[in-house]
Amino acid sequence: MDRSQLHIAILSSPGMGHLIPVLVLGNRLAAHYNIKITILAITTSSSSAETEFLKKSTLTNEKKTIEIIPIPSVDISHLINSSTKVFTQLRLMVREALPKIHSTIASMTHRPDALIVDIFCTQILPIAEEFKISKYAYHPTTAWTLALAIYCQVFDKEVEGEYVDLKDPLKIPGCKALRPDDVVDPLLDRSDQQYEEYVKLGMEYAAFDGILINTWEDLEPETIKALRNNEKLRSVLKMPVFPIFPVGPLRRTVETTERDEVIQWLDKQNHGSVLYVSFGSGGTLSTQQMTELALGLELSQQKFVWVVRPPFDGDADSAYMNSTGKETRGMSGYLPEGFLTRTNGMGLVVSMWAKQVEILGHSSVGGFLTHCGWNSTVESLTNGVPMIAWPLYAEQKMNASMLTEELGVAIRPAVLPTKVVKREEIEGMVRMLMHTKEGKTIREKAKKLKMSAENALSDGGSSYNSICELVKDIRSRLSVISL
Ligand code: UDP
Repeated sequence: MDRSQLHIAILSSPGMGHLIPVLVLGNRLAAHYNIKITILAITTSSSSAETEFLKKSTLTNEKKTIEIIPIPSVDISHLINSSTKVFTQLRLMVREALPKIHSTIASMTHRPDALIVDIFCTQILPIAEEFKISKYAYHPTTAWTLALAIYCQVFDKEVEGEYVDLKDPLKIPGCKALRPDDVVDPLLDRSDQQYEEYVKLGMEYAAFDGILINTWEDLEPETIKALRNNEKLRSVLKMPVFPIFPVGPLRRTVETTERDEVIQWLDKQNHGSVLYVSFGSGGTLSTQQMTELALGLELSQQKFVWVVRPPFDGDADSAYMNSTGKETRGMSGYLPEGFLTRTNGMGLVVSMWAKQVEILGHSSVGGFLTHCGWNSTVESLTNGVPMIAWPLYAEQKMNASMLTEELGVAIRPAVLPTKVVKREEIEGMVRMLMHTKEGKTIREKAKKLKMSAENALSDGGSSYNSICELVKDIRSRLSVISL
């Protein structure tokens, strides 16, 4: 074993949306900087989508510098009840996994020189300190949501009552103001445990040596500037300099080797003619909303690929912890009667899971109706695909707001996610995105952002430089620690 080689351990929270960008980051560091990477992947359950994905993962590179160690799922059933939110569950899962993470690191013959942990794993701080390892947090979404998480400890003291009841937008210093309607889920109810967990998370961020963000300079210039220089934000962090590393967009690039049914169908469609519809790895719609969406797609007469999972009349992220990729009810049981027959040839309905990256990269896809999970968003942006933003949970309303109002690469239903979007509105949005002059303008903006993302990642680009800075920072702390 080469002891002089830098060794970084990356810890990913449960869920595909966390595992995927962590694998991409690990692969990039290993491939470009000859760093040994150990990925500690906490999974949601032994039969979870992540476990399956890890089994099939081909990310281990030729030089064998990436090792993936799955951290088996932990039982948190004694800590939760039927109303415990996913955010809290994820924090608890990581908390309960800490002893296993500790023993895994302790048993490594080549101890990591640095730890990078993703959002729900910020509770690892005492372990990093015990092993005297430098520590970096990885914030898997935007700089804007990072600024909110950090500044929330101030809001917690200053805001009275519920955030959603505020008349005025929340002012995060130096950043776009946040409409009360668009706050992240943990801020919806201050008496819920997830609120407390969220405020704690923001405080934990401040104790890290640096924070990586899955964004890039050109996408959020003002917010990145504010995180670096705004006095008010810095005073919350109690740091003279806040080291942030915008390293994004971290997203998978896949070469389509096997042309499955969906790709073969897309091969036969016209350029840019298909709308791709998906709500991420765990998003679900209510029964009524699913009917409206189906009938709206049908009314639009637009070609589509729709990844469906059974409707659920509770929290929209209810499937997040259990996205096993298996479904037993049969689609015709919950889609409107005759829908599959009437749309035969016009649309393809896929159950539970599709190869999203390949689909969004296909030239026949011209639009994406998305729940605005950040991975899905960057996968769309990096393919220049404009969006219909349909946020469901977590920070997705903020993402939708940024995509529509700031970046102009998406349109959004007029009603909030808590209300039902009617079929006529869906038909109208689809037609507008795919056929009108306004849709064309949105498409052109999406193409420009694709270029901007490519520039950021290319040699000498802002995200490329940011990763170089990160590696330099890790090395410099190493020499200080070993003195
Ligand atoms: N994904 C996929 N196929 C699916 C659904 C999701 O490949 O049918 C992938 C998608 O490409 C993305 C991730 O799962 O990389 C979902 O992450 P995102 O942040 O968009 O949403 P989340 O599932 O975390 O809400």
